[in-house]
Amino acid sequence: MLNVVKALRSLQEIDRDLYRVRDELRRLPAERDRRQAELDAHRARIDAEKEAVDQLHVRAKELEDTATIQRQRIRKLEKESMEQRDVSVIEACRYEARSLKRQVEESERATLEMMERMEAMRAEIAEKETKLAEERTVFEEFCQNVETELGDAQGRHDALAGRREEQLSGDLPRETLALYDRLIEARGGEAMAMLDGGVCQGCYMSVPPNLVVRLTRGREVTQCPSCDRILYLG
Ligand SMILES: [Zn+2]
Repeated sequence: MLNVVKALRSLQEIDRDLYRVRDELRRLPAERDRRQAELDAHRARIDAEKEAVDQLHVRAKELEDTATIQRQRIRKLEKESMEQRDVSVIEACRYEARSLKRQVEESERATLEMMERMEAMRAEIAEKETKLAEERTVFEEFCQNVETELGDAQGRHDALAGRREEQLSGDLPRETLALYDRLIEARGGEAMAMLDGGVCQGCYMSVPPNLVVRLTRGREVTQCPSCDRILYLG
């Protein structure tokens, strides 16, 4: 059993680094995807704002077109009221013209407001576009760095995996190795812990005295009751 613990400890020396490098290999692309999604979301927000400006533009154009027709109608009414002799018809023409003038004024005011809003929105969009372009440049640099780092990490990974393969000795029982592998994943790359003065150095909890005795006898794989790590004596 001492040989088993010794073999596991040799393996642990490699697996600590292997765990870190695997984490890097997972983390880097995940971070890249997260940043990409963020940029896509910015792009979508800007596009939505552009769409809102376009809609505003269409509405302003509609208002202008209506006002143009109303102005033509006003001129016609004014002409009619001058040519007419019938007072009631003249009054009716003037009444309609006044009402139309009010509508035209209202449209002009609304159109002006829309124009101002569109101008402000366009300025804001331009600012956001500039910012997005800058973010994209940063992101592209980041992607290049990620590529380099991933290549580097993959190289280290393969070297470590090769060393691990060599280190894996036949005298490691299958269940012990499976337990060890589970712990590597569950305990952030540290499946083993030294027991020092009855205290597990993995989680700094004291273990019961009988466990110390068992470990000293060295007949079985002994785990810390608190953190489950496989214990060894310093
Ligand atoms: Zn522990």
